[in-house]
Amino acid sequence: MEPLRCFLLCLVCLGVLLGCAASEPAPDAAEAPAPDVPSHASGPVYVPELLGAGLAAPRAHALLAELCARAPRRLAGSEGAAHAVEWARESMQRLGLENVRLEDCQVPRWERGAVEELVVVEPSAHAGEHLPILALGGSVATPERGLAAEVIAVASFEELHARAEEARGKLVLFARAMERARLEPFEAYGGAVNQRSSGASEAAGVGALGVLVRSMTFAQDDQPHTGAMNYVQGVERIPAAAVSTNAGDRIRAWLEAGERVVLRLTLDCRTHADVRSHNVVGEVVGRELPDEVVLIGAHLDAWDVGQGAHDDGAGCAHVLEAARLLLGSTLGRPRRTVRCVLFMNEENGLRGALAYRDAHRDELERHVLAIESDRGGGLPLGYASDAALGALETLTALFGGAPWARGGGADISPLAEFGVPLAGLYPNPQRYFDFHHSSHDVLEAVHPRELELGAIALASMAWLAADLDGDWPRNPPRPARR
Ligand SMILES: [Zn+2]
Repeated sequence: MEPLRCFLLCLVCLGVLLGCAASEPAPDAAEAPAPDVPSHASGPVYVPELLGAGLAAPRAHALLAELCARAPRRLAGSEGAAHAVEWARESMQRLGLENVRLEDCQVPRWERGAVEELVVVEPSAHAGEHLPILALGGSVATPERGLAAEVIAVASFEELHARAEEARGKLVLFARAMERARLEPFEAYGGAVNQRSSGASEAAGVGALGVLVRSMTFAQDDQPHTGAMNYVQGVERIPAAAVSTNAGDRIRAWLEAGERVVLRLTLDCRTHADVRSHNVVGEVVGRELPDEVVLIGAHLDAWDVGQGAHDDGAGCAHVLEAARLLLGSTLGRPRRTVRCVLFMNEENGLRGALAYRDAHRDELERHVLAIESDRGGGLPLGYASDAALGALETLTALFGGAPWARGGGADISPLAEFGVPLAGLYPNPQRYFDFHHSSHDVLEAVHPRELELGAIALASMAWLAADLDGDWPRNPPRPARR
C-alpha cells in the first residue's frame, strides 16, 4: 500500500481541535505558554479498503458494550479484572486471532472499601455538608471514626514546604488546577498530576495528617476523579482522596475569605497481597516476516468507578476491531505480524507492561513499532510518537505528517529501552478528562462512530507499519526502568 493511496483529513481535524480550544476561557495572554502542537501535524490515516469495511459493518462499539457489561469494574486484582481477561481471550478467539494466549503477571490488589466521606465541621454555616470525594488508588484508611482536622490549601510542593509549620497536624488540600492555556490536555494533566501521585508523601514529610487533591479535569462540576498515588518508602503513609473541582474551589474560597475550615475525612480502603493476573495476547501473523512484530496495545484494567469506557475500554475495542479488520481485509496479510496485547494493571502499577517486557526480551529487537491506544474513544486526529531520526521520518512518510504529541503510551513505554519506536493513536483529547477516572466514564460517553473511526485509524496505522517495504529504523535506546 502506497501512502498516497491513503487520504488525510488534516484541515478538517485541525479545525475541530482549534475550535474546541477556542471555547476555553482566555487565560492571561502574557502567561500563556507557547503552542504545544506542531502546525504541520498529521490527520488520521485511513487505508481505503479498511475504511470501507470498517464503516459498512462496524464492531468496535459492540465489543466495548460487551466489555462494559461483563466487567464494568475491573481494577487489577479484582474479580472484574478476571472477567475482563476471560472476555478478552474469548473475543480474540471468536474474531479469529492466532496464537491467542494469557501471559502471567503479579498485580497489586487495592480495595476502596465501603465508606468514603468528607464532612464539613467548620465553617459552622456549612457544618454537616458532605463534599464529593473518591479515595486515591493505593491510599491507606483513616481511623474508623474518621480524621477531623483543620485544612490548609497550597498550590505547589514549594508552597507546602514554605508553609511547613502551618501544615503540621492538618489536612492539606492540593488546589492547583490543570492549566487551561495549554491546547494539549495531556500536557495540562502532566503539569498538575504530581499533586495526586506524590502529594501524600510530600505532606506527610511536613507532618500533615491527610491529603485532599483537587480533581484532575477541566470540568467544573461535582464529580471527583480518582487515580493512582504512591507512598515514598520510609515516609509515614497518610490517607489521600480526590475532591471534585467544585468542592476544592469551595474550600479554597472559604480559606481566602478568612474562615477556619475543619473537615472530617473517613476512608476504609485497604491493600491485600499481590495476586496473579494476565496480559491477553493474540496475533495476525505476517505473510513474509512473521517474526517481525508491530505491537498494537491497550489496557484491560480500569478504575473501580464508572465502566472505564474511555479509559481504556475504548483502546481495547480499537485493538480488537483493528485485528478483525486486518484479518478480514481484501488486502491480505501484511508482511509482518501485528500482535495485539491487552495489558493488565496500567492504572496502578504497570505490572503487565513490565511483565511483557521481561517475557519478550529476546524478541524485542524484532519489534519494529509499538502503537498504543490509551487516550480515549474520541474522533481520531492523528498520532503521537516518541520516534526520532529515521523512525520519525518513516512514520511521517507513512502517516502523512508529524505527530500531534510526544510519547506512545504507558504500557509500551518499557520497550523504549530496547530501541523500539513508540507511537499512540491520537483521538481528539479535549473532552477526555471530563470522564477520566470518574463515574462519568461509561459506555454512553463514547460516541459509536468516533470509536469506529479510531479502530479504523489504528488498523490503518498497523497495516502500513507492518506492510512497510524495507527495514524499520530503530530509536536510540533509552535508559532501563524498574
Ligand atoms: Zn488508561
